[in-house]
Amino acid sequence: MDGAEHHHVIVGGSAAGIAAALSMRQHGFAGRVTVVEAGGELPYERPPLSKALSGGEAGFLHPIAPREVYDEYRVDLRLGTRVHALDPQHRTVVLDNGQTLRAARVLLATGVVPLTLSVPGSALSGIVTLRDIRDARALAARLSGGGPLVVVGGGFIGLEVAAVAREAGLDVTVVEMGAQPLEGPLGPVLASRVTEMHERAGVTLRTGVAVVAFTGTDTVTGVRLSTGEVLPAATVVVGIGVRPDTTLAERAGVHCDRGIVVDQHCHTSVPWILAAGDVTNQPNPYLAGRGRIEHWDNAQKQGAVAGAVMAGVREKHTALPYFYSEQFGRTIQMYGRPGAEDEFVLRDEETDNGFLGFWTRRGVLVAAAGMSRPRELRSARTLIERRTPVTVEALASPATDLRALARVPATP
Ligand SMILES: Cc1cc2nc3c(=O)[nH]c(=O)nc-3n(C[C@H](O)[C@H](O)[C@H](O)COP(=O)(O)OP(=O)(O)OC[C@H]3O[C@@H](n4cnc5c(N)ncnc54)[C@H](O)[C@@H]3O)c2cc1C
Repeated sequence: MDGAEHHHVIVGGSAAGIAAALSMRQHGFAGRVTVVEAGGELPYERPPLSKALSGGEAGFLHPIAPREVYDEYRVDLRLGTRVHALDPQHRTVVLDNGQTLRAARVLLATGVVPLTLSVPGSALSGIVTLRDIRDARALAARLSGGGPLVVVGGGFIGLEVAAVAREAGLDVTVVEMGAQPLEGPLGPVLASRVTEMHERAGVTLRTGVAVVAFTGTDTVTGVRLSTGEVLPAATVVVGIGVRPDTTLAERAGVHCDRGIVVDQHCHTSVPWILAAGDVTNQPNPYLAGRGRIEHWDNAQKQGAVAGAVMAGVREKHTALPYFYSEQFGRTIQMYGRPGAEDEFVLRDEETDNGFLGFWTRRGVLVAAAGMSRPRELRSARTLIERRTPVTVEALASPATDLRALARVPATP
């Protein structure tokens, strides 16, 4: 026998995959653990890739763990290697170098890939997306050559790149098809606060318009909008969203529906295969139904649960969704994910030094977001997790001490 019953293989060495590998050991798994990662770099954190592009590489390349940790945890890292296929029947993982690995269980932590625009000129050089360290290196090099920079898509990654480029003195325009950037995640009121911060810093915003073409011969020189106007561009960052990388899962017969469908234990429809991280369509008690949660914190926590389950400990992933973003030296944070029916409450503090907003549903807090408000948001998190009854008036008033509210015993 080849010891396959003692070997777990993780596909994808990022937030979810590495958390799973370490968690397996923490939960007592003594067999072999292999992480297969297509990228060649020691696994690194993605959030810094869009936040420190104007300094040297040390600003944006942060390993998840030093190499010694992988030795200590006896994790076999196969970097620069892609998994080509999975064979659930024979329980084998086929690598692109022709090798096969037998595995008792496989974890798919394959993440997402950025969407691209298919309009005339989209193959010109200088039009980039930002997902991995190679993208970050290439973008940092382009930005060091100066602007103008056009960011297509006013999501978090696009706005972070806009902020670092603006801070480096470049001319920056953000093109957003919707009414304003970030309206989806933050709602119109808080989104307008972020938008105003960008405008005050000199970022030009073009909203309610689409990109219809890129101009240039080899390299991009302009972005044509649906209005007919052409914005000059030396670099274009396309940040219009992502799609889950379900290729392997689908080929292996795993049920996918806008992501790999998992339960709270990270099981897929194929008993041999688990999944975690951005690639999953997951149930979460704080979501109205299931969905993808594309945040670092979720990937780590869900990965850790997958690792525990693979080690034989039946844990459940029930964490409150959380994300953060950094723009112009400010930290934006959000707990929970509001639904369209939830009531929004702004805590209006008559200051431009940050903001705080809440969403309630039937007398309890379900989500909270803010800029430069970490203490209040920590209390809000407790209120959400404990389902503590709150009133709209109390939340709206700056006089209400959220920490004191959070100390009230939870409802049964
Ligand atoms: C620029 C940027 C900034 C971000 N900023 C924030 C932030 O501020 N806050 C926040 O909460 N989140 C942020 N995120 C999102 C966060 O990084 C993701 O939620 C997190 O990385 C998801 O982790 P994951 O392990 O699920 O997948 P990923 O990080 O996408 O990793 C998947 C890995 O799988 C590998 N892989 C895929 N297929 C194969 C295969 N067949 N064989 C081998 N390897 C394979 C890929 O190479 C990749 O390394 C940011 C993301 C980016 C790109």
